[in-house]
Formats: sequence, C-alpha cells, structure tokens
Amino acid sequence: METILVLTHTDEPGAALTKASLEAVTAARSLSEQTNASLTIGIVGPGTAAADSLASLGARILAVNGEAFAQARYATDAAACEALCHAAQPTLVIVAAGSRFARVAAGVAYRMGGCIDTHITSIGADVPVRVTRWFYRQRIEATLTRTSRPWFLLLDAGTHAAFSGAPAPVNVEQVAVPLPALRTTVVGLRAPAQDAQTIRPDAQLLFVAGAGWTKKQPDGQIHAAEAGTIILDFLHNTGASLGSSKSLVDQGGEGEPVLPFLTHMNQVGQTGSTPRHAKGLSTCCHGEEPHVVGWRFIGERRAISLDPNCGWTRGKADVVYVADAFKVMQKVNELLASSKT
Ligand SMILES: Cc1cc2nc3c(=O)[nH]c(=O)nc-3n(C[C@H](O)[C@H](O)[C@H](O)COP(=O)(O)OP(=O)(O)OC[C@H]3O[C@@H](n4cnc5c(N)ncnc54)[C@H](O)[C@@H]3O)c2cc1C
Repeated sequence: METILVLTHTDEPGAALTKASLEAVTAARSLSEQTNASLTIGIVGPGTAAADSLASLGARILAVNGEAFAQARYATDAAACEALCHAAQPTLVIVAAGSRFARVAAGVAYRMGGCIDTHITSIGADVPVRVTRWFYRQRIEATLTRTSRPWFLLLDAGTHAAFSGAPAPVNVEQVAVPLPALRTTVVGLRAPAQDAQTIRPDAQLLFVAGAGWTKKQPDGQIHAAEAGTIILDFLHNTGASLGSSKSLVDQGGEGEPVLPFLTHMNQVGQTGSTPRHAKGLSTCCHGEEPHVVGWRFIGERRAISLDPNCGWTRGKADVVYVADAFKVMQKVNELLASSKT
C-alpha cells in the first residue's frame, strides 16, 4: 500500500497555503480515500497558521517553519522538502507545481533516491498507481506507472479543485531542518504592474486578440492604437489573461501594425500555448484549427467576428457574436466601468 506525502508551501504573507498546494491536497485526498493509503501533508512556510485550513482533512501534518522558509530559495526549499520526506517516508510524493516547488522537486527526488514525473494531470486509484500527463504540446495523453519509489509527481496547476474545509486548530509536528549554507539572500519580491503582465494563468477568463484588430476596418483605415486601448482597458477591468493568434504576433516581423504589449508568449494554439481558463472570449480571430487546438482546456468559448463563416461559427465556439469587435468591446468596457462606480 502507498504512503502519500503532499509537499505544500504557504503564500507570500505566510497565512495560507497557495492555490496550487490546495489542489495537490485535493488530488492526494482522493487517492488516499480510494486506496486506503496513509496521507501526510508537509508544509513549508514561516509559521503554522496555514495548517488550520487542513483540519477537516484528518491527515498527519508535518511542518518546516521559520523565517528562512518564508520565501522561495533553492537551498532552503530543497532542504525543507528533503527533511519532510525523511520524516514521512513516503512512497508517493505529490508536489504542487507552482514556480517555487517546480524548481526543487527534481533535486529532492534525486536526494531521496527516487524518480520524478512532471506535468501530471491526474492520479488514478489503480494498483499500481497510474498517472496521466500530456506530451507533444498536449496532443498525446499518456498513462504512466512506475515501480521505483519514492515516486515524485509534480501536479499541474488547474487540474484539480482547491481543497477547502472549515479551519480549526490542528496538531502540527515540527520537523527540524539544519539550515544549509545560504548563498542567496532574498531581499524582496518585484512583480510587474497588473497592466504590464498580461499572461495570467489563474484568471477566470482568457481574452484572445486576433489579427483583425490591426486590419483595415469598414472605414478603410487601420485603428491599431484604438485597438490597443480597448484591449488594455478590458484587461484592466476584468483581470483577464491575454492570448493572441499567431497571425497577430507574427505581424511585427513583417513591419505591419502591431499591438506593442503582445509577444509570442501570448500565442495560443498548435505552436503556442494551451492555457486553462474557465471561459474564453476570442475577438477578431478567424478560429482556424491550428489556433483553436490551443483552446482545448477552455471551459466556455465565445467569439466575436465579422465573418459569419469563420471557424468559430462552425462549431468551435459555444456562442458567436457576428459583430464588430471594436463596437462590442467598447460597449463592454463602458458597462464594466459603470458597474465599478
Ligand atoms: C503549422 C502551423 C501552426 C500554426 N500554429 C498556430 C498557433 O499556434 N496559433 C495560431 O493562432 N495560429 C497558428 N497557425 C496559423 C493559423 O492557421 C491561422 O493562420 C491564424 O490563427 C489566423 O489568425 P487570425 O484568425 O487572428 O487572423 P485572420 O485569419 O487574418 O482573421 C482575422 C479575423 O478577424 C476578423 N475581423 C476583422 N475585423 C474585425 C472586427 N472589427 N470585428 C470582429 N472581427 C473582425 C475577420 O473577419 C477575420 O475572421 C498555425 C499555422 C500552421 C500552418
């Protein structure tokens, strides 16, 4: 029978577990319930407050606490995770794949003499345990099983609901970690302003801009500057994540009008990304297959296009507005602004 350890960490203030951590807890609880495997949660962070949110789980809780563990740093995070593994002696280690633990998980697996698989999307309750992950830009889904233990599973964020339960005081077993030599001093965190960072994996909504925004409009003119203002206003009002078609981000190289805040990092599709969001709104995009394949994990799809025969209307979107996106989005921005006042 497997022994499961979930490696989690707190958010920046240290008061709560990160969303990715709580998603890993959900996956582990489900596996533990279905297979009767023992479940231990390991928490890394400055204090014990975050553990109370796991009270209803009824699992053993181990923690590595202290100011040195408040912020992300390879040496301290790897030492903390290794100590939690030694304390729990797991056969399966489920790790929340946020940026903080994604970079230490392979190192910890090596120190524990285990093996690791990344980008895990589901963990099945079979014997032996089977996991799934995607290959080749999410076109091939593989089912894997391994005999070597401990087996580290880096669970992709957004694949499970975040665990939530009534908070209550819980017994937390402290795991002592001798501090390793520290060559890195964390002096603070710098994040881009909300408008500067347009790719937001945690956003509810994906907003996709297509090449139509910079094409000649019915008045015979190009309105790229106006398009930029409309799109940024919408992102500012909603916190949506910004995606793009390939045609739009490629235009810069051809000397055509561009939206300066878009890069190839925003590109969604076969040769771009495959983001996960509850909803998606495509604007001025034709909805061709190489683009829409990147919408595989978008729950509800809507599109605004002038073309009544575009790919979206041919069954790729749930709702299509055959309309001028400039007019529609201006109206939407007005409504959003008035709802805020
Ligand atoms: C191997 C390969 C890989 C590819 N990978 C990708 C990929 O990863 N991602 C990707 O996006 N594409 C990819 N493509 C390209 C893809 O096939 C399309 O060419 C591209 O998605 C088209 O982008 P678009 O719809 O924005 O532009 P267009 O085809 O130019 O469509 C613009 C649309 O905007 C509409 N429009 C114009 N003005 C307005 C307005 N005012 N209001 C509303 N609608 C308006 C027009 O009616 C038109 O439908 C790939 C192609 C190949 C061959």
